[in-house]
Amino acid sequence: MALVTLKEVLKKAVPEKYAVGSFNAADHSVAEAILEVSENLGLPVILGVAEAHFRYVHLESFVPFLRKRIEGLRTPVVLHLDHGLSLDSIRRGLDVGFSSVMIDASSLPYEENASLTRQVVELAQKYGASVEAELGHVAGGEGDLTDGTEPDPNVYTDPEQASSFVEDTGVHALAVAIGTVHGPYKGTPHLDLDLLAEIRSKVEIPLVLHGGSGLSKDDFQNAIAKGINKINFFTECSLEAVQAARAVLATGTPMSYPDLIATTKSRVREVVAKQIQIFGTRPLK
Ligand SMILES: [Zn+2]
Repeated sequence: MALVTLKEVLKKAVPEKYAVGSFNAADHSVAEAILEVSENLGLPVILGVAEAHFRYVHLESFVPFLRKRIEGLRTPVVLHLDHGLSLDSIRRGLDVGFSSVMIDASSLPYEENASLTRQVVELAQKYGASVEAELGHVAGGEGDLTDGTEPDPNVYTDPEQASSFVEDTGVHALAVAIGTVHGPYKGTPHLDLDLLAEIRSKVEIPLVLHGGSGLSKDDFQNAIAKGINKINFFTECSLEAVQAARAVLATGTPMSYPDLIATTKSRVREVVAKQIQIFGTRPLK
């Protein structure tokens, strides 16, 4: 029984001040890479599938496959729907077997965000699943690899609002906007750690940092010290896998497709293992 909810996997992370990595997969090989690292290190992980990536898989088969795979592991793993955008897609995700869902209504006004999040919390309860929501807005698209994005301080998370949001919705984890972006950064990232500390002082549930790729080891460790408990890390896995493929193809050595996949998968394993160590993830028991 290795499948757990987000609430379970993060229960010690707040008092013990560490983070659990959330890594997205849009195919079997990346999912395997993430799960193998978790098993090899004996540490929990959050395996995400983003709604934006649903088009790459047959969701009704892919998620049950992952669920079965996770149930055979010794380490606790969360099967998480990342950035669900509507009640319908959340319901679809819960029906196919995610143990945790994120509703991202962060571009809506506070009341609408809170109302939709509350509905998702009520729905997820029926499935025994956890819910993450976002308040303030983390800009940028994970698929957008062009120029990079700059964060907008006008949409950073307001600590007072965060406190009432958690109370109003009953959500289990909260993604905050404190200077990160999805996809590549334009310039050097600067996290507003004072703001994070203020949010942490007003909110007891686990806090989530999206847009982890591009941050330094110090950035992560400072953010974790100030209260981050879940870190979403995708773009660098994707870029590194492509880089590994380019490098091996450039040699011109004859190679089978399974060998090419093994090469990219091996690079993803390295990136994930490195990040889990940086996040200071601890065993659940
Ligand atoms: Zn995100």
